[in-house]
Amino acid sequence: MKYGGTSVENAEKFLNSAKIAIETYNKGNEVVVIVSAMSGVTDMLLDAANKSLKGENISQIINELRSKHFEACKNIIDKELLSNTKKSIENLLLDLEKSLMGVHYLGELSLRSKDRIVSFGERLSSLILSKTIQSQGLSSEKIDAFSLIVTNNMFGEASVFFDKSYTKISDSISPLLKKDTIPVITGFIAKSIDGDITTLGRGGSDYTASIVGAGIDADEIWIMTDVDGIMTTNPKICSSAYTIPEMSYLEAMELAYFGAKVLHPRTIEPAISKNIPVRVKNSTSDSLGTLILKNTKKNHKVVKAISIIENASIIYVSGAGMIGVPGVAANVFKALGDNNINVYMISQGSSEANISFVVSEKDVEKSENALRKAFPTKDLVRDISHIKGVNIISVVGKGMQGAVGTAAGLFSAIAKDNINILMISQGSSEVSISFVVSKEDGHRAIRAIHKAYLE
Ligand code: ASP
Ligand code: MG
Repeated sequence: MKYGGTSVENAEKFLNSAKIAIETYNKGNEVVVIVSAMSGVTDMLLDAANKSLKGENISQIINELRSKHFEACKNIIDKELLSNTKKSIENLLLDLEKSLMGVHYLGELSLRSKDRIVSFGERLSSLILSKTIQSQGLSSEKIDAFSLIVTNNMFGEASVFFDKSYTKISDSISPLLKKDTIPVITGFIAKSIDGDITTLGRGGSDYTASIVGAGIDADEIWIMTDVDGIMTTNPKICSSAYTIPEMSYLEAMELAYFGAKVLHPRTIEPAISKNIPVRVKNSTSDSLGTLILKNTKKNHKVVKAISIIENASIIYVSGAGMIGVPGVAANVFKALGDNNINVYMISQGSSEANISFVVSEKDVEKSENALRKAFPTKDLVRDISHIKGVNIISVVGKGMQGAVGTAAGLFSAIAKDNINILMISQGSSEVSISFVVSKEDGHRAIRAIHKAYLE
């Protein structure tokens, strides 16, 4: 059971989350809890890190963190446990302050130090949640995921060594479950083989939950959040959006990758490897949420969900010299990869005289500079240009696989609304079709498709 930041944003929410865990346990289940930092805390820690780097005073942030976490303990932690809990919070803050001082004195903020600094968010929240469970009379233990999840040293978004991690997880968690203890594990953070603290990328607690779930061969992985599961589209864009009761692993992966923020994109992988269903649920309502599994029941809906990536740009690379020359595409994408630029979508004209791709708007200049460096003469690549301000709309649904006419239907639905398409791409799995429109048309396109396929 994983609780996100909003499910532990104050004392009331901590208590609510603890109670759901206990209720589930009392129904005869073994329960393992994973928890994110309190809402906003990861950003506060990053802010503190940047302030330290600039030599600014961080005592205000430390005080804010102290009062936020002290406030969260109020009335939910037993008197006998409270002073110890507060002492542990003070110790963690002291340790945090030392790390921030290090940044300040060295005048250097590496990704490694950043991971160390943000790790305190989850270390603090897991402590409070575990003490809250204990205060309800159950046995609980707070566990730092350092001792469970082993990664490489790609700080900021480390890769997990699964086999090593699964062994550690099962070795340390299974005995606790046998002792009727509810473990509360820090989400998001891990340790490298060299023993440095690493993180799994922003929103990484979802991923922790599925890694731990796979490690203990859980029956289900629950992602507890502040919405009623995964919705057909963003309800802020389309008011008739609704919760999807069931979807497949593949659909959920496509959706998470293309901008739907409910799940960390890598969450599904460990679940697939052990065939464990993932349920996305609201921690403050009784709705069943969305169940993600290998094979869904036959669903006649061709399209299941629509997502959007905003603030994107198309970059065009063209030149008659590119025609029939092997390796041009490889060099284009190598240049981007070497500069850590993430490419959302790619398309090549059949004449081979142009390649276009979509990146985040913030990466446009960096991409163009990288390409100019990679192709210094105009022999191969003549022009490099871009369009800023585009949206990628991604339409996901396993029912599109082998269904003739889906693309035609989609595009005629948006053509009726007079929306121009700038670029199209279909995943070879046929589980998604993505296309690019200008940002003025993005929301309208979503509403048109939702109306045609999901209402
Ligand atoms: N606390 C981390 C973040 O804000 C991880 C998470 O919430 O899943 O990104
Ligand atoms: Mg999240």
